[in-house]
Amino acid sequence: MRRSLLWISALLLALFVAASIALITIARSQNRAANEQSLFYVKKALDNRSKRLQASVMDYAFWGEAYRNLHAKLDLDWAYARQNLGPTLFDDQGYEALFVVDAHGGTSYAVIDGKLQRSVDAGQWLQQDLSSLLAAARESAELGESVSRYLSLDGRPTLVAAAALTTGGDPEVAEVPGPASVLLFVDTLSDGELQALGDDYGIHGLRLARDAADAQAQPNLALPVQDVALHLRWEATEPGHYLLSLVLPLLVSAGLMIVGLTVFALRRSLVAARAMELNYASLQAGRAALADSEERFRQVAEAASDWIWEIDGEHRLTYLSERFEEVSGHSREAWLGRPIDELLTSAAGSVSAWLDGHTPRPGSRSVLQCEYVAGDGLERACSLSLRRISGSAGYRGTAADITEEIQARARIEHLSQHDALTGLPNRRRMQEFLDGKLQASPTRDHPLVMLSVDLDRFKPVNDALGHAAGDRVLNEVSARLRQCLREGDLVARLGGDEFTLIVTGISSQYEVERLCRRLLARIQQPFMIDDNEVFIGASIGIALAPADGTQAEELLRYADIALYEAKEAGRDTWRFYASGMNERVVERRLLEQDLRHALRDGELRLEFQPRYRVDGQRIAGAEALVRWQHPQRGRLAPDVFIPLAEETGLIVPLSDWVLRTACLEARSWPSTAFVSVNLSPIEFKRGEVVERVRAVLEETGFPPGQLELELTESVMLDDAEGALQTMLQLKALGVRLSMDDFGTGYSSLSYLRAFPFDGLKIDRSFMSDLSDSEDSLAIIQAIVGLGKALTLTVTAEGVETADQLSLLLQVECEEAQGFYLGRPMVAEAFREALRSNP
Ligand code: C2E
Ligand code: CA
Ligand code: CA
Repeated sequence: MRRSLLWISALLLALFVAASIALITIARSQNRAANEQSLFYVKKALDNRSKRLQASVMDYAFWGEAYRNLHAKLDLDWAYARQNLGPTLFDDQGYEALFVVDAHGGTSYAVIDGKLQRSVDAGQWLQQDLSSLLAAARESAELGESVSRYLSLDGRPTLVAAAALTTGGDPEVAEVPGPASVLLFVDTLSDGELQALGDDYGIHGLRLARDAADAQAQPNLALPVQDVALHLRWEATEPGHYLLSLVLPLLVSAGLMIVGLTVFALRRSLVAARAMELNYASLQAGRAALADSEERFRQVAEAASDWIWEIDGEHRLTYLSERFEEVSGHSREAWLGRPIDELLTSAAGSVSAWLDGHTPRPGSRSVLQCEYVAGDGLERACSLSLRRISGSAGYRGTAADITEEIQARARIEHLSQHDALTGLPNRRRMQEFLDGKLQASPTRDHPLVMLSVDLDRFKPVNDALGHAAGDRVLNEVSARLRQCLREGDLVARLGGDEFTLIVTGISSQYEVERLCRRLLARIQQPFMIDDNEVFIGASIGIALAPADGTQAEELLRYADIALYEAKEAGRDTWRFYASGMNERVVERRLLEQDLRHALRDGELRLEFQPRYRVDGQRIAGAEALVRWQHPQRGRLAPDVFIPLAEETGLIVPLSDWVLRTACLEARSWPSTAFVSVNLSPIEFKRGEVVERVRAVLEETGFPPGQLELELTESVMLDDAEGALQTMLQLKALGVRLSMDDFGTGYSSLSYLRAFPFDGLKIDRSFMSDLSDSEDSLAIIQAIVGLGKALTLTVTAEGVETADQLSLLLQVECEEAQGFYLGRPMVAEAFREALRSNP
């Protein structure tokens, strides 16, 4: 009796020890799994960082302009002063250094922390022998790729991406024989950057290991850096510790109780033995201990968040712990005796199939991720850990619920691939999708169609109705775009009001155009935002694979160029990419850069065209007209560069210069002669125009009454109420306002009455028709009459002949301007004209 009691106690104790070990193992494996998962995210974060840097270096290296100015010759002005490869890469992108290493290994161009360095050697600065990196970059350039590498720079992890400079396929750039120069971008990961990088992926406290001991602590990642050990560390989540802290105390106390019970029972049995009598009482105590311990084991099993299961040799469930009901929402009775395959499925198919393929050795433990439908009908995921039951064909194990973890992972995955506002795929997802589609090698008969869509007139919506309204419009646009496409096509939002569509399964140009027409029609339908009807439009650029290109980057660029042409062509339309477009875009980009310099370097000139009183033919004043003395192209007319200035925002500084120069010059004129200056509708809408005019008047001391501002009616078209307010404020400054190009719009008359104009200028197109058309004379006569009725000074523009002038005299038009009376002239010439003015 005593012996068997001892045996039972020993067995129970062993069971508890086994349970404790199992528990600790589970906890550690949970910790390990969590660490592995975080390691995966850290690697992914680093990987993405280097991919981005690689993409960025390629953007610049595979660019004909860069090849010409950094490899064929070295143009520091182009590269640094004009900001093509200058400080913005440091300021905006945070790249600590960029280098160009030439064919002989010398560093020909270096910008460090945004500053140009004249005699820095890239290899020395990076404390590295760069020869293998340079060779790899040159080799990869032939495949259209760049390379990157981690290295340690003063103990900090540093990413270097390198790409060889190529002409980028630009036919205008001549290739230079010999090895290409290599462009290097250097991105050092500071503490803050590491932390932010981790945060993006849900990893907390990502940092560099403090010392060797810290580097070995879990979790950690050794960076692939030559010679030096660089370890990253971050905070572990340790779900297993939580489990242990919950269950271990229970287990220990249960174990202690058994020991106590055993000692107690032994004593009693000893007494009984002494009494020479086999006593039933001791047997009873043994039974009670056993029942007790089973109860405790059950409690332990139920305290864990996992449920426990067992299957027999036929893979039928023979045991399910109580937790199963709570977690899965199924009853145990319903499942006991049924095959486990009916409950769980795994990526490998069924659990049985997986077991057949793996046959875990007795004693070893395997983990399998499974899904099942819970009692509430929703899908749940669990991580099955299983081991062979020794001495039987069955298995047992635990099932940990990992539904939330899987959902979180899916959420991160989704977030990293989709635009938060509209839920549409983002640029990254689009790129992946595009790569996939291109791999399927589209043909001319079954092309891949890439559409770049950019909304027109969207900004005013944002400005006038607020961002919330703008967001709603973007959401609605997304939905409408999606409706126009078929399953298997993709709409992505690349940010702002730019969208990209990737479409397959349409083969003719006719079909593409039909799609564009449908897209535009959908977008042009009004949007109801609160009680406002909002109207917007869109422009579309189209590129086709393989006709225009077979690389994702190429197609994106070409579609953008075509989009640009569509905008140029007057918006609300589409354009197919045509190979000539590329040059025009480059040309405009150059002109835009030049215009920035023109302002700074004083290449602008002002000319003055006299305006005469028609009756006595005295000079009333002059219109200031801007010209650009371009160092290479010579004199450029405003029609060439004003639209460009309007598009790029340069119109504001340009116009400030015109205003100031005109006022300074006109100070020397008699007080009866006014100067008039053209304002662009773009700057008028910006709101600061009143302040700017006031500032110039104060600065120059020019009398406001002598200044006239010429506006076109488009100023009033978009926002009549705002325009009226601005005009009233300008009038309050004391300046005169005149309506330019009168007659070319369609609603000029109503505006004239409602807005505080002092004069109007009849567009010169009426003048050219004047001699041979009765209608034009009638129209001019009517306008003059109207002007008189509204007490406006009427000026006829474009007077080229004596006949035209005498007709104007006949209809009593007050003032005239035109080549016959005087061409635009330099300031001195106009002063001369004023002196001989009768
Ligand atoms: P606009 O305001 O209609 O200016 C008058 C234009 O007509 C000037 O051309 C002038 O040279 C031209 N013109 C004058 N008399 C005659 C004539 O008898 N026959 C013909 N065929 N043309 C005549 P320009 O200087 O090339 O200016 C073109 C446009 O550029 C201007 O049209 C104006 O809209 C814009 N512009 C010029 N300077 C500025 C400026 O400083 N700021 C802004 N925002 N726009 C400007
Ligand atoms: Ca004008
Ligand atoms: Ca005009």
